[in-house]
Amino acid sequence: MRLLVGAVRRRMLCLWLMLLGFSLVTLALLELFNHDRDQSRDKPIPPQRPFPQISSSPDLEVIVDSQDPAIEFAADLAPLKSLQEDQLLFVSSKQGTNQAPHMKGSYRVLLLGANKDIRATAPPTHDGLEEEALRIQMEVMEKDMELSAVQKYGFNEVISEKISMHRRMPEARHPECLKQRYEVLPSASVVICFHDEAWSTLLRTVHSVLDTAPKQYLHEVLLLDDLSEHGHLKSVLGEYVSHLDGVRLIRSTKRLGVAGCRALGAARAAGEVLVFMDSHCECQRGWLEPLLQRVAQDRTRAVSPVLDVIDWQTLQYNATQWPVRGVFDWRLDFHWESNLLLQEKDPSSAVEAVRSPALGGEVLAIHRHFFQRVGAYDQGMLLWGEEQIELSIRVWSCGGSMEVVPCSRVAHLVRHHPPYSFPDQELLQRNKIRIADTWMNEYRKIFYRRDTLAYFIRQSESPDVTDRLQLKRNLGCKNFRWYLTTVYPQLYIPEDRPALSGELYNVGTSSCANYPHRQGLQGGAMNIAPCSGTGSQHCDLNSESEVRWGPMGALCFDTTGERVVLSPCPTKRPTTSRMRWNYIKMSSQLIHQQSQLCLEAVLEEDIQEISQGDASSHTGGLFLRPCTHHPRQQWHFDQLVAPQDA
Ligand code: UDP
Ligand code: MN
Repeated sequence: MRLLVGAVRRRMLCLWLMLLGFSLVTLALLELFNHDRDQSRDKPIPPQRPFPQISSSPDLEVIVDSQDPAIEFAADLAPLKSLQEDQLLFVSSKQGTNQAPHMKGSYRVLLLGANKDIRATAPPTHDGLEEEALRIQMEVMEKDMELSAVQKYGFNEVISEKISMHRRMPEARHPECLKQRYEVLPSASVVICFHDEAWSTLLRTVHSVLDTAPKQYLHEVLLLDDLSEHGHLKSVLGEYVSHLDGVRLIRSTKRLGVAGCRALGAARAAGEVLVFMDSHCECQRGWLEPLLQRVAQDRTRAVSPVLDVIDWQTLQYNATQWPVRGVFDWRLDFHWESNLLLQEKDPSSAVEAVRSPALGGEVLAIHRHFFQRVGAYDQGMLLWGEEQIELSIRVWSCGGSMEVVPCSRVAHLVRHHPPYSFPDQELLQRNKIRIADTWMNEYRKIFYRRDTLAYFIRQSESPDVTDRLQLKRNLGCKNFRWYLTTVYPQLYIPEDRPALSGELYNVGTSSCANYPHRQGLQGGAMNIAPCSGTGSQHCDLNSESEVRWGPMGALCFDTTGERVVLSPCPTKRPTTSRMRWNYIKMSSQLIHQQSQLCLEAVLEEDIQEISQGDASSHTGGLFLRPCTHHPRQQWHFDQLVAPQDA
């Protein structure tokens, strides 16, 4: 009996304990729920300034706004030392307050792990030899850091970190520019998109805009984070920017690419003129006013400053020689071209804007309404590249114009390599295909012959450009023939006759006529190399008897002595007799008209015998020789793309 009572008691106790446990869990859950609700009520209120709303994807972005427009401390803000993502930043000012951070010394960098500042941690030494050894060791480590920085960013970020956020560019404008006066100008929104930009270059870009743009013309600086991954671009940047007057940070939650990111910036901007700027630029004094003036005078003008160059190794500033204009070739690659002919014009040309067939994307000013009316950026463009060529052809063809303004100068860091890898290796080709299919009409064949990768991609997939073709119709845009004849008449239009154009294949050596790229656009000696099959060795024997080389078609087969070289093609017709060639189909010989000698591929070892140790000639080359029927004098123009295709 006792045993029975004991068992019942134990069971009752268990039941009570279970009930108690259940109520405690319920209470805890209720508490948690209420706490969450309270917290969501206490969430910070979003920025108060009314922003124009973008119609699609309202959840696309996060905005960090500068907190108090009345505080003006941008100019003398302590240059915050650049941060690596594995460094911790301690900000002494409280987050979310309207207070400016204390000036100098208010930021402290805490170093973690590998990137430790070795100077700070080096043990004290008393011995001179040890010091010397340490100095050498430090130099080696510094070099290592520089190398890894170059690998990561495409430029020497270690040096960049040491340069002031407010460095001044040397004066490179023509003295006449300094005399220019500007009336009332429209306001500008500077739109800076970035993806994993280095801290030093990004902030130097922002400060240089704030330091140089007159307040009355600078409506805002919009920083758009295109889904960066580097740690220093996260909360630290938000905190820093929140203290900069007139600077807003917008974060995209999707990777948009250059075209998409800039279009988002444009939709958010409220200034009259949009100034798109790369995230590694430094502005010259007085750069903004001349751009705004040209756009104010004609709203359909898109304009660019002269782009000076910041060296990727030394971060040194190099002034670009005026005049320059933007062009592209038949592979749809963009170049800044120094057009020497312009220099002979009257002295006023030093301050006058130059019409430009295309503009690079580094810095571009365009009226906000015109930009939207003409179709913003092509949203089908993938991540990076080509968007500036598409915009250029569209602006010109659809009623606008483009020019480079000499009294405006902005320096752009030209990197050694892009700092991001692309998931799609054929991304550039895909963007080029969009341009070819939207804008080039029958001329796209010329492009496809010079970019065979694009051609083969196009064979298996076609881009959806329906919207862009509709836009072109709606805007009544002119065709590519008009663009070539009116805007860019200097671009040689290849004839590409069957059997007289393509890779120039040599029977005797089973290789192709080649031009080493490093010799540049001005020309130089030709050689022979394995046939690339990419279209990069394409040439064209035209009805003027010139053999035109390369994507621009601006270099011609020429001779110096018995060597065959490339020289800039004559602009006058008929062409000089030294550059005329005949192709004899029967014997496959290419004969130089003036000398009646034959083109021959000469191998490296033969050249060494001829030149007896002349080091400059130690590569296979193309020479003129008395005609024989040797296979090395036999040539075929191999067309890689069938003429009826593309
Ligand atoms: N960029 C971006 N998203 C991307 C790729 C680039 O916002 O997916 C930014 C980049 O940080 C830079 C600008 O777009 O500010 C132009 O890119 P980049 O400087 O690499 O072009 P480049 O000057 O080398 O032609
Ligand atoms: Mn750039």
